[in-house]
Amino acid sequence: MSGWLDGQVAFITGAGDGIGRAVAERYLKEGVRGIVALDRDASGLSTLTKTYGCRIATVTGDVRSYACNEEAVKLALSLFGRLDTVVGNAGVFDFRRPLRSYTGESMAATMDELFAINLRGYLYAAMAGREALIASRGSIIFTASVASFNAGGGGILYTMGKHAVVGMVKQLALELAPDIRVNGVGPGGTLTGLSGTDALGQTERSINANPAAFHEKMAAGVPLGFAQQPEDHTGLYVLLASAANARAVTGEIFMSDGGTGSRSV
Ligand code: NAD
Repeated sequence: MSGWLDGQVAFITGAGDGIGRAVAERYLKEGVRGIVALDRDASGLSTLTKTYGCRIATVTGDVRSYACNEEAVKLALSLFGRLDTVVGNAGVFDFRRPLRSYTGESMAATMDELFAINLRGYLYAAMAGREALIASRGSIIFTASVASFNAGGGGILYTMGKHAVVGMVKQLALELAPDIRVNGVGPGGTLTGLSGTDALGQTERSINANPAAFHEKMAAGVPLGFAQQPEDHTGLYVLLASAANARAVTGEIFMSDGGTGSRSV
């Protein structure tokens, strides 16, 4: 059976869990030759390799390190011979912390950490993959959010950061055309283990601490009436990675939020 991504090779950050992992699994079903997964969670990566074997290569490391991103791209080229898609996805949350809750010091530390992961990590992935993507006329996909266009999906820092992803997509789409398409996918609240920053002592905290309450809140507040799972977004990542199906699409963010972003009240 042929898939939409037959023979392609992808580099995905944050593929150890959640949305990134679901994208990796879906890409494998769509026929990719190989995936390089970069994540700081070694155990998440090892379950991925155990399940999918030699079509997965992993780099255990931090997206804030350019060397780790470079290593991932080198692995893609040496093991699988090419690179078609870079998915910038690893991220952390601020648990909707408002401005009034910060001190000058905690703002500096949290902002530095959250922006370095959620934004610099994306740029590093794009920078490391650029030459290989020019050669393949490939594409970059960034995980944006319902918080990329609205207030309240995060606190001040997460919302600012996700809005910046929109600027990143648009600017890079222009800069990297005509060789590389650059787009985003914007999930709404999704049942994952999305965690927080070290600066606020929230690396062990997760948005799915209480899945039943999360389901109830989503079902009540999302127009489509259900809590989204990571798998619900993966079709858009497939579409955007497929030159055959999205050849003319660049500079766009495709929302996948159950209609949350389209409501005015
Ligand atoms: P997740 O925690 O399940 O997955 C994120 C992965 O990124 C984890 O495996 C984690 O180990 C990894 N990671 C985090 N910081 C890292 C770092 N510095 N270096 C390397 N790896 C790191 O969470 P998720 O919800 O799947 O998040 C993925 C993306 O989706 C994030 O960008 C997040 O902002 C975005 N998003 C999530 C939601 C949601 O409700 N879950 C909604 C919209 C957007």
